[in-house]
Amino acid sequence: MDLCTTPGISIEVAGVSKSFRVDGRVEQALREVSLQAGAGQFVTLIGPSGCGKSTLFNIVCGLMQPDAGEVRLDGRPERQRTGRLAYMPQKDLLLPWRNVLDNVILGPEIAGRPRSEARKEALALLSLFGLAGYERSYPAALSGGMKQRAAFLRAVLQARPAILLDEPFGALDALTRAGLQEWLLEVWARFGQTILFITHDVEEAVFLSDRIYVLTPRPGRVALALDVDLPRPRTRALATSAAFVRHKEQVLAALEQSLSAGLAGNLATDEHR
Ligand code: ADP
Ligand code: MG
Repeated sequence: MDLCTTPGISIEVAGVSKSFRVDGRVEQALREVSLQAGAGQFVTLIGPSGCGKSTLFNIVCGLMQPDAGEVRLDGRPERQRTGRLAYMPQKDLLLPWRNVLDNVILGPEIAGRPRSEARKEALALLSLFGLAGYERSYPAALSGGMKQRAAFLRAVLQARPAILLDEPFGALDALTRAGLQEWLLEVWARFGQTILFITHDVEEAVFLSDRIYVLTPRPGRVALALDVDLPRPRTRALATSAAFVRHKEQVLAALEQSLSAGLAGNLATDEHR
């Protein structure tokens, strides 16, 4: 598949619920979550720790089945979704014993494509990912930002019509993070896949997204769906505009409101066995 022409697909999560059994108790992680990402859109989930964001990603990419509800890709419910979407998990680790080049071609290699062909494709993208000259370096020699770019390149090289990014910038300092946000938008504009993104950072969510879903504390429910109608390409200057600040305030208000409501309801909803 040609990376540069991979078209995005729409993703629809419809009424998804999921519970886990923990120490003999049943804990609901997600309750009737519905959300939509149009083809090629950048859609972000934001919500407190433990509200089920990573669980939702596991369900969307097909690693986990929901207890109720379904996921539709381009309008079609598909139970067997593994391999359809690229996924960069929250704790995405590069393999320490493989150099950068061999780490980023993991997807194509596992899919059975010839290594030499995958390496060629990866090498052509290394400079866009700020990794030129580091192809033979091992992960231990990379900065935090470089590791995240390598992990992202690995997801991009899976050449899927959508990418799920679970808090990719969570562990980075503010400056590195700001730089990577702008860079991510450039890369996305070039590849055009649908992106589902998880963050804790309200400013990051508004800066990046076409749409933001605010989730309540566990069990995660949608507290707010907000379309971000700010112009693109986005630049830092936008962050001080009245429209940007207004979006930020809306997200913050929904987070605060759901936090107080959610904490009260949390214990009451767990089924004790
Ligand atoms: P978030 O990513 O929003 O921080 P998670 O999706 O990781 O939240 O977790 C949501 C809830 O589900 C948490 O209470 C977590 O402990 C629980 N959970 C997640 N995965 C499992 C699992 N495989 N088994 C049991 N509980 C789980
Ligand atoms: Mg998580």
